[in-house]
Amino acid sequence: MQTSPGICQRKRRYETREEADAVAVRADVTLRTYKCALCHQFHLTSRTKGLRVPRTI
Ligand SMILES: [Zn+2]
Repeated sequence: MQTSPGICQRKRRYETREEADAVAVRADVTLRTYKCALCHQFHLTSRTKGLRVPRTI
């Protein structure tokens, strides 16, 4: 995923995927965890278009 520096700085950063996933599952909306190529940490995004969403049900 392409990430612009502006988005990277605005978004909350998580040091681990586990930490980001823990926040994502508690959110009201579907969030995806992705590793940022700029800061090498993890962000959450609500944009799921183009990302494969694994079905858990
Ligand atoms: Zn970032």
